Amino acid sequence: MTSSLEQSLQGEPVAAIATPVGVGALAIVRMTGDGVLGIADRVFKKARSAEGSLADSSGYTAHFGRLCDGERMVDEVIVLVFRSPDSFTTEDMVEITCHGGPEVTKQVLKLLLDNGCRMAEPGEFTRRAFLNGRIDLLQAEAIGEMIHARSESAYRTAVNQMKGGLSEKLGMLREQLLHSCALLELELDFSEEDVEFQSRDELTEQLERLQEEVGSLVESYQHGRLLSEGVATAIVGKPNAGKSTLLNTLLEEERAIVSHMPGTTRDYIEECFVHDKTMFRLTDTAGLRQAEEEIEHEGIRRSYEKIAEADLIIYLMDIGASDYEEETEAINELREKHPGIQLLVIANKIDTAEDSIRRAEVVGEKTGCKVLGISALKEEGLEALKAEMNTMVEGLDKLHDASVLVTSMRHYEALRNAADALQNARELVDAQAETELIAFELRSALDYVGEITGKVVNEEVLNVIFGQFCIGK
Ligand code: GDP
Repeated sequence: MTSSLEQSLQGEPVAAIATPVGVGALAIVRMTGDGVLGIADRVFKKARSAEGSLADSSGYTAHFGRLCDGERMVDEVIVLVFRSPDSFTTEDMVEITCHGGPEVTKQVLKLLLDNGCRMAEPGEFTRRAFLNGRIDLLQAEAIGEMIHARSESAYRTAVNQMKGGLSEKLGMLREQLLHSCALLELELDFSEEDVEFQSRDELTEQLERLQEEVGSLVESYQHGRLLSEGVATAIVGKPNAGKSTLLNTLLEEERAIVSHMPGTTRDYIEECFVHDKTMFRLTDTAGLRQAEEEIEHEGIRRSYEKIAEADLIIYLMDIGASDYEEETEAINELREKHPGIQLLVIANKIDTAEDSIRRAEVVGEKTGCKVLGISALKEEGLEALKAEMNTMVEGLDKLHDASVLVTSMRHYEALRNAADALQNARELVDAQAETELIAFELRSALDYVGEITGKVVNEEVLNVIFGQFCIGK
């Protein structure tokens, strides 16, 4: 009879193409679950038949031969064998390296499906790795983030998370919380005897320490978010200032509509570019002016929304046509409305006015901002602009190697909830409230922390997380 542990290690056999669909030298089709070695044996003919079956071979071995559907050869392949529990999913696994064409991989997959595998769901391999305890939820998410990373910093942050820095830190937090919870619950068991297993002063100290640790993780999200999502950068300015042109130049390809007509960038356009390891998420906003057309109103409303959400605002003006009063007013208004957001003022079209440097200086004097001169069209001053953008988010660089950084909204929210529960617990201790109430708050802090690593499993959360993975991951 198989034990429940063994049963949980060997799920239903599933298969999927693990590499992107398209033409390439090689591709990988993989299987995991109960009986996959047997399935592979049914369709695989080893080049050296004396070697015996795959089911009898050791883990971490490679075998060369042909995949066949009856008498029909499907492809010449390498088969890699992983034996439970030493595989990614901890189940028996087979990886077939075949030739990389869309039809070849389809045929290989079909062969496996015809021979007893079910098609894997998106993220099912990683989900099994998590459910079988091979990785925690944070690490599973880090794998997804690493695959989707578009900048070196996002990639490095994901690698750090995969290594388990944050998991370890949360594990320590959980232990401390568990310790305090256990002592409080013990008190409840002995409630008639009126004993305190941890003095309230000690408990307060402990809670303070925990609050500090959770607080610093919550704070780290400010930077972590910039690394994983990119620096939200709103390009604003009057119509015709050259916003779309700048956006296009920065992205080095035509993605926004560049037009002579004011207000034709009807909505905002968002694209990313990476400069010196940092990813910037650029939003071109519809012209900030009173427009009559409905569609423009909508565009303008969303522009304002985008500005409020930005980490960095680039205010662009046409320095040749600048109405200093109006520009100064707009810049000052932005600064007043969004004091927490970095503001970079750019004088565009320096190629059109002889006295553009002087003009830029005037705006600088009037606003107290440093003004950078560029020509988006002639691609002048762009390196200085990018360098300045980087300087404005400086500090990110130092964080690239920090192992303990919160980069996901899900983790951030759970930690904020944990912080609130800890604060409630502190207040209850101060108010000399009943042990039961304090224990309840500590328990919920514990649950919030557990949700992050997956100690506390919420099926819906799992579906969302693994649903974002590709099939075959
Ligand atoms: P937006 O309304 O702010 O998005 O402005 P656009 O990017 O559509 O640019 C308006 C016009 O200004 C277009 O004709 C651009 O070619 C032109 N333009 C943009 N940047 C420059 C520049 O640096 N120099 C010159 N001479 N023209 C520019």
